[in-house]
Amino acid sequence: MWSTPAETRLPNIERNKMARRIKIYEGKAKILYEGPEPGTIVQYFKDDATAFNAEKMEVIDGKGVLNNRLSEFFMTGLNNIGVPTHFLKRLNMREQLVRACEIIPLEIIVRNYAAGTICTRLGLEEGAALPRPIVEYCYKDDALGDPLVSEEHIAAFGWASQQDMDDVLSLALRVNDFMSGVMMAVGIRLVDFKIEIGRVYDGDFQRLVVADEISPDSCRLWDIETGRKLDKDVFRRDLGNLTDAYTEVARRLGVMPKNAAPMGKPTLIN
Ligand code: C5P
Repeated sequence: MWSTPAETRLPNIERNKMARRIKIYEGKAKILYEGPEPGTIVQYFKDDATAFNAEKMEVIDGKGVLNNRLSEFFMTGLNNIGVPTHFLKRLNMREQLVRACEIIPLEIIVRNYAAGTICTRLGLEEGAALPRPIVEYCYKDDALGDPLVSEEHIAAFGWASQQDMDDVLSLALRVNDFMSGVMMAVGIRLVDFKIEIGRVYDGDFQRLVVADEISPDSCRLWDIETGRKLDKDVFRRDLGNLTDAYTEVARRLGVMPKNAAPMGKPTLIN
């Protein structure tokens, strides 16, 4: 039997609005659309949560709204202290306008305390303070499970130049200093995080910017007093309600009103 595709049942005006949007890429947690100006992209935050390379998946009401807002908060802070990012402005509850950039195919991980894969890999106890921030690189490839790589691989396969890698390291450590300070001020320990870095071209010149997102999806955040986990490990390990955890981070940072109720649908201050 024939069924009418959902989009043809919409009124004309809605259909035209949808038709104008050009999807560039859909990932696990975000969708990228062509932006209104050349060189811009609209980044849409989905509610989908995935873990273990998408083996575990769930739709978590409100997560996209929180991550859009938290990523805006962190990226704006970084821009303000002179750490360049792709972030231009937030457009609405779920979307932000960012500069188009060519993503270096690496996940850049910075660790201050032992957690996650470094514990399994090196037999460290979760929560052990590391002697200094440790920066790791993983090759961005879902099919391979984003394997850990060395600078030797990065240079040999031409994923980034030596100059790029010097800049990547310096950006990663500056992001770590900024994020650790901001989180410490609200009683949260920045255990580790992942960033992505992209190249933008200004005429003949290339420069590197922090791209993608910075949110509790890509960081490990522990309450300093209680050790409560306020990040995606809540979902990975079934430790409770993920939106409650992210709402708590947003509330402490002043991104949400202090008296906001634990949320299904978040109320945001403008
Ligand atoms: O899993 P692992 O311990 O290596 O993760 C280190 C940090 O990088 C964690 O904060 C995790 O949330 C983040 N990460 C990420 N995306 C990945 C892998 C790790 O955001 N694909």
